[in-house]
Order: sequence, then C-alpha cells, then structure tokens
Amino acid sequence: EGFIAAVAAAKPLNAFLVETPDHALAAADAADKARAEGAPMGSMAGVPIGMKDLFCTEGVATTAASGILDGFVPQYESTVSANLWRAGAGMLGKLNMDQFAMGSSNETSAFGNVVSPWRRKDGGNAPLAPGGSSGGSSAAVSARLCPGATGTDTGGSIRQPAAFVGISGIKPTYGRCSRWGTVAFASSLDQAGPMARDVRDCAIMLGAMAGFDAKDATSLDLPVPDWEAGLSSDLKGKRIGIPKEYRVDDMPGEIDALWEQGIAWLKDAGAEIVEVSLPHTKYALPAYYIIAPAEASSNLARYDGVRYGLRDLPDGAGLQDMYAATRAAGFGAEVKRRIMIGTYVLSAGFYDAYFTQAQKVRTLIARDFEAAWESCDLLLTPTAPSAAFALGEKSADPLAMYLNDVFTVPSSLAGLPAMSVPGGLDKDGLPLGLQIIGPALDEQGVLNAGLAIE
Ligand code: GLN
Repeated sequence: EGFIAAVAAAKPLNAFLVETPDHALAAADAADKARAEGAPMGSMAGVPIGMKDLFCTEGVATTAASGILDGFVPQYESTVSANLWRAGAGMLGKLNMDQFAMGSSNETSAFGNVVSPWRRKDGGNAPLAPGGSSGGSSAAVSARLCPGATGTDTGGSIRQPAAFVGISGIKPTYGRCSRWGTVAFASSLDQAGPMARDVRDCAIMLGAMAGFDAKDATSLDLPVPDWEAGLSSDLKGKRIGIPKEYRVDDMPGEIDALWEQGIAWLKDAGAEIVEVSLPHTKYALPAYYIIAPAEASSNLARYDGVRYGLRDLPDGAGLQDMYAATRAAGFGAEVKRRIMIGTYVLSAGFYDAYFTQAQKVRTLIARDFEAAWESCDLLLTPTAPSAAFALGEKSADPLAMYLNDVFTVPSSLAGLPAMSVPGGLDKDGLPLGLQIIGPALDEQGVLNAGLAIE
C-alpha cells in the first residue's frame, strides 16, 4: 500500500501511464495467505513491480508509448509478465518509455517525457532525462516507487537508463527471456531484463522472468540457473578485460576516473585485469543504426489501422488513405525516422550496400568478443559516455542522441549478457554506471562482478 500511495503521489515524474493498484494488492494478499497457510511461495511473492508498457498485459491498456496503439487492450499476457505473476509478483502499473523503445532519453513517448528524480547539485534545477528507452522503469525504481521494474534492451535501453539514475539493470543473453507478447522493435536484438536497486534483486527478478518458451522461436531451451544462490563477490581467478577501443577520444575525464575506480574495485575482489582489443568497436553504432531500423520498419508494418489501436478514416477515404492517415497520426517523429531509414536500407537498390554490409559488421563484432574470451572472462567498461543530460538537450539532434549508445550496442549486436551497476557520482552529484559484459549464458559471472562493484 505504501508503494501504491507513492506511485499516486509521484505524478510529476510521469513514470506511470496506467496504475493498477488492484493487481499489486491481489498479489500481496495471495502472498499473505500462502504465508499463513505455510503454502509454497514464489521467488517474488507479493512484490509489487512496474511493467514497461512494451509488455502486453491482459485486460490492461498497452501502448508502447505510441499514439498508434491508443485504445489497444491485449487479450493475452506476455510470457515475461506471466512468468513474473507465476512467481508471485504483482503489478503497480504500466511504465512510460520511449515510443516503441526508440530513444535514449524517454523524450519520444507520445505521453510526454519522464522526469528523472535526480537533480544537479549546483547548476540549477534543470529537469534531467531518466535515460531511455526504459525511462519510466529507471525513474520509478530510483524514486522508490517500486522495488523493481521490467525493462527491455535492444541497444542499451536497460543499461543506460539504469546508469543515469544510479540503479542496476541486466540484459541477459539473447533468448533467455521470451519475446512473446512483447511489442517488437528489432527482433534479433530485443531482450527483456530487470531493473532494480541492487544486484541481488536483479538476480531474483531475472530468475523469475527468464525461461524457455515454445512461442518464441529464438527462446533458449535451457534451464534457468539459480542466479541468486550463485551470487559471490569473490572474483579470485577471474580475468577482467579492459577493451582499449572503448577509450573514445572525447570521453570526459570523469568517465575515465569511474572506469579506473571500477578496475580498482574488481582488483580488490581478487580479479586480474588484462587489456584486450575489440577492433571493430567503432563500426558497432553505425551497424546498429542500420539493423535496428531495418527490423523496426518490418515489425511496424503491422500498425495499419486495421488490426490494433488507432484508426484514422477520413470521410470517403479508401484503404490506402486510411493506412496513410492512421500512420501519419499515430507514429511519432522518431518512429517515422526509423521506418524511413529502415525502409531505405532494405530497398532493392541499397540492400547490399547497407543492410548486408551491416550484417557482416555484426558478425565481425561477435567474433571480436569471441576472440576476447580467450584472454579474459568478463569485460568492464563505462555504461554511457556521460551522466544524465538535461531534458531537451539532445532531442533536436538524433545523432547526438544515438551517440549515447556507443558502449551498449556492441554487446547487443553480439547477443551477450551485459549489466550496468552504479559506480559513483560525478562532480554534479549525478550517478554514473559501470558496465560488465560476459560471454553468452554467463549471467552469473556478470552478476558476480556487479556484486563486487556495488
Ligand atoms: N537508444 C537505442 C535506440 O534508440 C536503444 C533502444 C533500446 O535499447 N530499446 O535504438
């Protein structure tokens, strides 16, 4: 009830699009009852969480923060949310986000930006971006409106917002969490994961979210390890790689200092530090911003005014006019930009020059990581090239916004587990995040290094 009241009182953050107090209360009651009866309880019994509005929730409006899904109420539950309810969790509400998860600041939402609960120490009271696309999730957890929230990460949308508000978040190996019932952005990259106050909560929540699902063709048919039981901050015998290509030229000194601090913490935990090279790193961002829009342009073709949500049918209009009017009215500017880029790079004349080329780069990036695992067990990097920026600061410049993802997209392209944990505050008193990247399926190693840092 405390969380429900906190959510209701936190309207200025604009983190929640829909509040579902009854759902959370029902889970709490069920947990109380099970406890009283000594019945078995799930790993998240009674825990109230926030649900990113990308996950379809049965009977509860789901918009992906887009006008085009206005009025859409799913008749089914996403696998990830169903798994969480099975573990006993309850839903406080649906969380704001960048429209269709496209963005790094939560400013592309059709329902207004989310405001970070953080402020610069000096330097006025300018409202800051909570990061994106899971900006409602990061703001809600950071403001203590919920102990945990779901996020999704296509190119950094769990890790970057977690870093901006000083919480933890992990994107598991591609295929760990089912994509079924999650609104698709770029299907070969999209992964769900938890955002929470600490590493242990992430381990518990990821355990509840993950698992094989026959309804997702890319779901991994593997048992879900007990990550919480496996937690250990003893890193003796672990080699941590520092990829030299991540030392980008214009990186602020504070980010460098954060990185050095992270290295020191991991050494203290017993790890050995080694320098490694990921030579194709600089091609990751351009490749991502071809592949992700290409897949998005294909996935978003389904929003045609017939099947879901919004329909704009001008008087006397035919089918084509309805498609055009609906899409013109329903999609936001960033979504339209991605659809246009994606359609262009997939068009017959340009396919080989852009899409095929980007796919080749993706393979080279995955091979870079494979080679790195010969000399190290995990990688440590900053999560983002800066602390949270002010709302409005980058929203007029898509390229400046895309550059924010420079450290998070390579591991996304390679499908690897990666986590952001808080690494301290910058001179303005704003949180900075450290990223740990691991080999496929080694969420445990990633979580353990995160534990050593936190
Ligand atoms: N910021 C990146 C983008 O806009 C990543 C988004 C995400 O991971 N969903 O595409």
